[in-house]
Amino acid sequence: MSKGTVPSAIKAFDYVFAALANGYISFSLTGPMEILYRLSMESIRTLRIMQETSKRRLFQGKTIGLVPTMGALHKGHLGLVKRAKNENDVVVVSIFVNPIQFGQNEDFDKYPRDREGDMEKLKKEGADILFIPDVKAMYPEGFSTTVTVGGLSDRLCGAFRPGHFAGVATVVCKLFNSVKPTRAYFGQKDFQQTVVIRRMTEDLNMDLELVVCPTVRESDGLAMSSRNAYLNAAERKAAAALYRALLSAAETAKAGSSARPPDIKDHLIAALKGEQLISEIQYAGAYDPATLEELPEFKRQNLFALAVKIGDTRLIDNVMVDL
Ligand code: AMP
Repeated sequence: MSKGTVPSAIKAFDYVFAALANGYISFSLTGPMEILYRLSMESIRTLRIMQETSKRRLFQGKTIGLVPTMGALHKGHLGLVKRAKNENDVVVVSIFVNPIQFGQNEDFDKYPRDREGDMEKLKKEGADILFIPDVKAMYPEGFSTTVTVGGLSDRLCGAFRPGHFAGVATVVCKLFNSVKPTRAYFGQKDFQQTVVIRRMTEDLNMDLELVVCPTVRESDGLAMSSRNAYLNAAERKAAAALYRALLSAAETAKAGSSARPPDIKDHLIAALKGEQLISEIQYAGAYDPATLEELPEFKRQNLFALAVKIGDTRLIDNVMVDL
């Protein structure tokens, strides 16, 4: 065998996989070929190549599902990928820890990052494209546009994280413009985010479908979150109190008792105060799922939501309560 044969063979495979991944060639794949194809997830780092790739797929009549994430992937994220996989021809997962949605004293620097682990999980899930732009590509010098969704962005989490949802709306708008998704997938865990993004897509006539997926939980009910990694063992145990409080508040509201939204707020706060490691309750109560304002009276659909700190770690959770 000549010296260059093995590298050339590897290169040839690379070309075939790249051609498959780019949609230049396609045929029906089953068995081992399908496994090989799945292992060929493409990584794209530049916005221009992402746009060109998406344009080509759309031109071929394919649908594109986008799952925007900040990485450190867990089963909550992977649930979105699965759903996107079921509903679209091409699944793009973006990983971008977006500096402009973090406040000055927040956890941007220590936010968990696990590129290798994330890639493995996404390949197993069958994601087609990993979009990983870097900060300079997203926000080049001179960048000066911000998408602000008025009102909704200032309530609940927004009251404690000024500028957060403008950062989220801006980056999601840029991701939509780069990936051109047919559908975009978000988790109910970040309910306010889904409301803000929906408002943005409607106000700016963005031509895509938003899909909101249920919150994936640990066995004790704690909503999965990349930030759970910050919790020590005692804090992790205490964190189960969030979902327990929401469930017992929902039971109280559903019991047909005379409980009104202010009682639900009291109920949630009392339950959270019962957990000593909760160091701060930022908000807790019953909210209008459309406006995110505190409810004076129950509606048919009610959002029970809360945000607390356990030690330095900020955690949020919510349930939708139909009455
Ligand atoms: P993040 O990486 O935290 O920005 O989350 C990316 C997406 O995954 C967002 O749409 C989140 O709402 C969603 N997500 C995060 N955790 C969960 C979870 N436990 N269940 C469902 N979706 C989730």
